[in-house]
Amino acid sequence: MESSTCTKCGKPAAITLPYANQSLCQSHFVKMFEARVLRTVREFRMLKKGDKVAVGVSGGKDSCVMLHLLHKISKSLPIKLTAITIDEGIAGYRNKSLEVAKKECKTLGIPLEVVSFHKEFGKTLDKLLKERGEKLSCSFCGVMRRYALNKFAKKLGATKLAIGHNSDDVAQTVMMNMMRNEPGRLARFAPLSSDDSDGMFIPRIKPLFMTPERDVAAYAVMKGIEIEFMECPYARHAFRQHVRTMLNDAEQKYPGTKLKIVKAFLSQSELMQDGAKHRQKSGKSAQMGACKSCGEATSQEICSLCTLLERS
Ligand code: SF4
Ligand code: ZN
Repeated sequence: MESSTCTKCGKPAAITLPYANQSLCQSHFVKMFEARVLRTVREFRMLKKGDKVAVGVSGGKDSCVMLHLLHKISKSLPIKLTAITIDEGIAGYRNKSLEVAKKECKTLGIPLEVVSFHKEFGKTLDKLLKERGEKLSCSFCGVMRRYALNKFAKKLGATKLAIGHNSDDVAQTVMMNMMRNEPGRLARFAPLSSDDSDGMFIPRIKPLFMTPERDVAAYAVMKGIEIEFMECPYARHAFRQHVRTMLNDAEQKYPGTKLKIVKAFLSQSELMQDGAKHRQKSGKSAQMGACKSCGEATSQEICSLCTLLERS
């Protein structure tokens, strides 16, 4: 049942959090939200003094909120921030969020680098999908974005690459990897990715790893952070979309389900990583190396990007 007063102070509640069986006023919600992100950053040792952080900013709520919080953290921990926005070339969608990203960075005084698929790969995502079929949208987009973010983070001399994945995204990724039987990917998935690629992959940090999507949206509204709520027109093709609906249904019936999936994953992740390292050492799975076509880091002979773009 929705409670109308703050569990902490008895003032009128601004938000109800069924997963925590709590209602909070705006001031207590904001405090809890910021403390949780800080705790996540500390617990997983995501940042250290002197880090140069490249922040992936799409203009959506997650990345904008993350940028604000990292900016706040940078006032007490000496780190340097640069934003990177990927322009995939999705007409009517990315151009709008790109404007939001530019505005946010300007407000916070953070330099922004815009990287376009068109410039990087010779075509926009729209054009590529016209040739190859829309069903492949997220496979192409995801692999190309990961490549571009890593390449430009390296170019900027970044020591970390911050990604705005919230705990809903994490729960979805965990379930998707299980449903696709991809234990290797699951073992590599982490709040702070390990740096075992000789500097070829910039370690990725996910400060919102323990923060539910709905809380991110509420925080953005309460703090007056401008965000673009539009959804990508290709999202309907994504397997993730089905998993999201499934998990939201479960959450509705059993509040806390999504965070329990995240916590269950974390409690097993060390074991999975040890297992994966052991398999690599004993030659049962591939070692990291350079792609024979483009030279970027991969555990295959030809990396996923070159395979998708058929450039081997
Ligand atoms: Fe790219 Fe798919 Fe996300 Fe759209 S929904 S931006 S195509 S990954
Ligand atoms: Zn309160």
